Amino acid sequence: MYFGVMVASKTFMRGILCVFLILFSVFVHAQQTEIVDYKKVDAVVFFNQIRIDSTVYDSYETTFDILKKTDSIYLDAVNMKFKNVSLNGKKVLYKNEGNKLIIFNKFKPSQDNKLQFLFFASPKKAMYFVGWENEARNQIWTQGQGKYTSNWLPSIDDMNDKMEFDLTFAAPTDYKVISNGKLVLKNDTPSYILWKYDMQKPMASYLAAVVVGKYDEKVEVSKSGIPLKMYYYPEDSLKVTPTYRYTKTMFDFLEEEIGVAYPWQNYKQVPVHDFLYAGMENTSCTIFSDAFMIDETAFVDKNYVNVNAHELAHQWFGDLVTETSGMHHWLQEGFATYYALLAEKHVFGDDYYYWRLYEYVEELAAQDRAGASTALMNAKASSTTFYKKGAVVLHMLHEKVGDVAFKLAVKNYLNKYAFKNVETSNFITEVEKASNQNLSAFVTKWLQDKTFYYEEVIASLQRQSAFITEYLMVDCEAVNAKCDYYLTSGISDKAKSKIISQVPDKITSEVFKNSIKVRQTIAQNLSTIPFALKKEYESLLQDASYVTKEAALYNLWLNFPEDRSVYLDKTSSVIGLPNKNVRLLWLTLALVTPDYAVDQKNTYLKELIGYASPVFNFEIRMQAFTFLDSLGVINQEIINHYKEAEQHHNWRLKKFAKAFFEKNNENLKITN
Ligand SMILES: [Zn+2]
Repeated sequence: MYFGVMVASKTFMRGILCVFLILFSVFVHAQQTEIVDYKKVDAVVFFNQIRIDSTVYDSYETTFDILKKTDSIYLDAVNMKFKNVSLNGKKVLYKNEGNKLIIFNKFKPSQDNKLQFLFFASPKKAMYFVGWENEARNQIWTQGQGKYTSNWLPSIDDMNDKMEFDLTFAAPTDYKVISNGKLVLKNDTPSYILWKYDMQKPMASYLAAVVVGKYDEKVEVSKSGIPLKMYYYPEDSLKVTPTYRYTKTMFDFLEEEIGVAYPWQNYKQVPVHDFLYAGMENTSCTIFSDAFMIDETAFVDKNYVNVNAHELAHQWFGDLVTETSGMHHWLQEGFATYYALLAEKHVFGDDYYYWRLYEYVEELAAQDRAGASTALMNAKASSTTFYKKGAVVLHMLHEKVGDVAFKLAVKNYLNKYAFKNVETSNFITEVEKASNQNLSAFVTKWLQDKTFYYEEVIASLQRQSAFITEYLMVDCEAVNAKCDYYLTSGISDKAKSKIISQVPDKITSEVFKNSIKVRQTIAQNLSTIPFALKKEYESLLQDASYVTKEAALYNLWLNFPEDRSVYLDKTSSVIGLPNKNVRLLWLTLALVTPDYAVDQKNTYLKELIGYASPVFNFEIRMQAFTFLDSLGVINQEIINHYKEAEQHHNWRLKKFAKAFFEKNNENLKITN
């Protein structure tokens, strides 16, 4: 029964009138959370078997308490259809507003009311069906934060009403379903498998998540007994160890450092194709970009450790305690960034921690110089501010009140507001109590003032870290005297790299005897290679770093044309980082080296064009498009890949493809 197809009658006319009045009353109410408390959702989500790419048709039940007398309540539900809507077992009047389902009833304060219905959704965002219409692997995954879960599941967009989600999914038999909470039932039928997940504690709706795909899993158990499930594509078994390195170590560390037990039943991490961000901290079910699935060599250049720690820290900061509004967003991102750094300090050491903090400080100073700073407690602040200034401010606060008071405050804050929502003052009050300090001046200066107090943070880093002090002291821009000495002395790799980037002409064969990281800086900075250093420079091609290999191949190819074939032969089997940095460069150079593998040119071109297809991650595709463009190659297949990219859910790829058509539309019209 749909409200809209009722036969017109006097009753119906009153119904219409009534709806207007009620709607008005809905909008004058400040917060629905004052009127109704949604407590639990039980939903069964069927992925349509006939056309899996865009439909879900599902049953839904929510349990709620009415806190204040009201004539209507609502759920957020975007572009859905409803059937069999009932309240406490009886038919009820409702209206589908297009983005809300409104239920009309003379509600009185009461507990455990049940709203049930069937719903049909065809989500345009928040749930993505990847690969069903092209050659990429088939997956379904969600992104609730900023995109709203209410696009695929009726829920509450307002973060302030937390519910326990018990979600069941029916998916094709050869797929795995991974969602929030614990898998309590897996029921095989001939045409699909039912996966029932159970949560025990409430969370904000934006943290509801599901992944459907083909995965294997590795399981470890934390010191406290929490199962840590690490998912991977069946063909990626060799990438599991380098990708998930330190997962258990960091989990155990964070539980101890935070002082509050991990709040959920288990912790799962799932890589997906063409994800919108690096990772997302869905409760007990982090989803991350499969571009972080790496081999041992790539671990040196770009690994998952920081994202792993960041999303894990959110399980407390964001998921257990959730901001009331965007003004307090730093309570999630600043804390996740800070605790990720503490976890990394635990595995990589102090210098690593201070280095990353120093990088944040420089980025914040640059933002300040550009006049782009905002206060930390500004809902419109940049992500640099929320994440990095948030982390720096926590570092300053930690130093100011001392380790004992800081840890006690964080513990009390999390325990007091567990499964609830928080504002900045809730945290500050706990720090004031634990430290017996008045923090009003600190709050004004670091949280409410938009200026970034660079000098003060640098002074703190210097107080705490001899490594940073040394880094800031060595300098060859102003004084040239000691540069030769620096490059072969016992100063840190970071300090040496700084000197190399300042004075690459000071590099001698001795300097090549440094660590892999220092050699990487040589590869990246010494673009005109003196003949005397040719042999040393060629040795960079053997380094266990794909960033080094890429830079070295390119520079050697440019500097020594007579040896181009030798360099190409040496690197012909290297693929590189997940973005295939070495392979894409190699194919391009092989194509433009006239006398190299002449009979293979077509195969190489075909391979390069293939990397622009939807099978590959958006980063690979953008780089392949760029190289093809630099080669001046365009054909119908490439144009088709651009057309697909123009419709892509990933905004960076979409923007890239749009820019291509804007630039080339006239020419393309002529050639077509
Ligand atoms: Zn985050």
